[in-house]
Order: sequence, then structure tokens, then C-alpha cells
Amino acid sequence: MTSFDSDLSRRLDALREQGLYRELRRVDSAQSPRIVLDGKSLLNFSSNDYLGLANEPSLKTSACEAIERYGAGTGGSRLICGSLAPHHQLDELLAQFKGTEAALSFSTGYTAALGTICALVGKGDIIVIDKLVHASIVDAARLSGAILRVFDHNELDDLETILKWAAEKTKTPASATQSPRTLVATESVFSMDGDHAPLRELVELKEKYGAWLMVDEAHATGLYGPNRRGLAEAMGVSNHIEVQMGTLGKAIGASGGYISGSRPLIDYLINRSRSFIFSTAPVPAAAAAATAGIRFVQSSAGAERLAALQKRLAEFHAPQQSPFYSAIIPVIIGDETKAVEAAAHLRNQGIFIPAIRYPTVARGTARLRLTFSAAHAPLDIQQLRSALRLVLPIVPKTEMA
Ligand code: PMP
Repeated sequence: MTSFDSDLSRRLDALREQGLYRELRRVDSAQSPRIVLDGKSLLNFSSNDYLGLANEPSLKTSACEAIERYGAGTGGSRLICGSLAPHHQLDELLAQFKGTEAALSFSTGYTAALGTICALVGKGDIIVIDKLVHASIVDAARLSGAILRVFDHNELDDLETILKWAAEKTKTPASATQSPRTLVATESVFSMDGDHAPLRELVELKEKYGAWLMVDEAHATGLYGPNRRGLAEAMGVSNHIEVQMGTLGKAIGASGGYISGSRPLIDYLINRSRSFIFSTAPVPAAAAAATAGIRFVQSSAGAERLAALQKRLAEFHAPQQSPFYSAIIPVIIGDETKAVEAAAHLRNQGIFIPAIRYPTVARGTARLRLTFSAAHAPLDIQQLRSALRLVLPIVPKTEMA
């Protein structure tokens, strides 16, 4: 073994010892309530395919038609030669769906966060993020070169203290041509906890201190609000958020990311967002599938799917009081190795639920992350409940601090 490989092998052994080793599991079926994983058919509670659209015929047909008409690949970035009609259709539909002046699609939500944050803030600016935001926002904040401040999860007092400090720090004389900016970034529905951000209060605070707000609606797009635009719509604050972000790979059933907002924001990103400019355009099939996914969400069939999802959630636990229910339910185990054990026991019971560990969540807060889909049947929920009743008592939870 070369010294390079033995160095890496030692690092991998260290991960194994801490219960943090990850490996790919082969799936030989489409995303649906049942998947064939490592050759075994399992009931799937691991997917973000909240509305069951990943394997929906209308999305697949649109993807196939786009391939037939526009080909398999795009030949380059959208600014060079790859801005195909399916991308334009998607961007236009996204803007209409989100009720914003304009929108821009990216290859993934991750690259949308990276390209947008790094375009909006840099050296001398300040970025303030919730402690539990997704890795894409954390990585973007670090890469941007802006001063990074983190506020305790959903803690408005903590955020206000930081914003007061930021307002002082970014104060500039009236004669200055450009002043430093403060950008606050958070998620609307948090990916690993399923709780939601107090968006109305966040809007009030950012307006009080003259900051900008970016909200990642990855786990809310297609699921909340009268037009299913996301939690910002449900809370009536969409028009006060400068940058709305999301992914097309969860409830929308396809893949890709998006930013929606004002025309100047989108024009600026086309000019300055490096992950957009310097990367080959997403394949036509992805753009067309996402367009069909949004259309499905907007249709009466989409509303029926959402009602089915809410029903499954109510069957799992007492009907939720909050109109902002979440399809993500974490079962906190604590210790990383115990969480992996719990997931293995559940697989033996025919259920696939991933063990989520550091660095996705903080050390010592490992968990089973259950996600529900409109495609689940009532019987699937019963099977899940029975399996959890059997497995959870044999995997005692760690006492949390
Ligand atoms: N934000 C959040 C909250 C997410 O959960 C994810 C995906 N895990 C992303 C952004 C990234 O989106 P994508 O998977 O499209 O890159």
C-alpha cells in the first residue's frame, strides 16, 4: 500500500471507531415507498420525495421528450452555449410559481447556495447564519470571505445582538460609494429536525437593522402556502425576503436548485454567480422533469398528494396542531454507533431509515431521520409503527445534555 493510501486508510479506521463511517448502498429500483436495497425489498422512510413525484409518469415522459428533442447533454454552460429552451421554460415557470419577478435554476440546491451567497457578500461584508443551516449555506458562507457569525438555532435575541453589532460595524460615511452589507441566511423547515424558522420575526429584525434575508425553502417548496410556494408564503412574508432559495430534488421530484426574487437579483447572479457561470448546464431531462414537477404541484392532483401526505403524518402521530406540520420526524438516539445499530435493526424488520450522524448533525445527537411521502399507504405507516415499537426499546437513547 502506498503511503497515500495507508494515510487515508488510517483516517477511515478512525471514522469506523467513532461510528461515523459512511458507505453507499446500492438501490436497484426507482425512488418509491418500496426500494430494492442491497438486493432486499424494504419499506422506504428515507427519501425527500415528499409528494411521490420522483417516479411519476408525467415527469418521466417530460424528461424523455426533452431528451428526444434537445439531446442528452447541454454542451457547455448556459452562458456559453447551453441555455436551452427547457431551462428558460423552467426559470419562467419557477418565477410564476414562486410569485417573484424572476428566478434562476442551478444544477443543484448546493450550487445555488454557493453561487448566490458568494456573489452577494464578500470581504468586508457580514454573513449571519442559523446554527443548524444546511452544509451548502455553511460552506458558501465560509467560501464567501465575509465575516461569519452564527446565531443559536431560531434564537431571535441572539440574532438581534449580532445584527446590532453588524449595523455598527458596517456603518459608513454618507459620502461612501459602496457600503458593507449584512446577509442573514436560514432555512424555513430545518432538514434534520423538521422544525421551522420564525420567518415573520426574522423579517422584522432584518428590516430593523437594514440587513438582507435569504431563506432556504428546500424542505418547504411544494408543501406550504395556498400556492404551495413554501413556508414564506404560508407565513405571508414572501415579499419581504430578498433571496428565496430551494431545491427541485425533493417535493418537486426531479433535481436542481433555484433562486427566486427580483429581476436585478437574477440578472446579477447570471453575471456574478460562479457556480452558475463556470459549470455545464443541467441536462435537458432534469430541467424538463422539474418543470413537469412544478406543474404537477400546481395541479389539483398536486393538492391531493399533499392531502395524502398530511393524512399519513396524522396516522403516524396524533394530528398535528400546527398548520406548519413537517414531513421530517427525527428520533434522537444520541450515540453514533447506537444510531447505526438502530438503523440496522430496522432494516432487519424490512424498513429503511438512515442513521444521521456528525457532521450532518452535531456529535452526540445522532438520530433516525424518518421522512414521509404521499406515496406511502396507510399499511406502510402501521408497519413502521410496529417496527419502531420493536426496535427502539432495544436501542436505549443516550442521555442528552
Ligand atoms: N438545503 C437543504 C436544507 C437541503 O436539505 C439540501 C439537500 N439535502 C440542500 C439545500 C441542497 O439541495 P440539493 O440536494 O439540490 O443540492
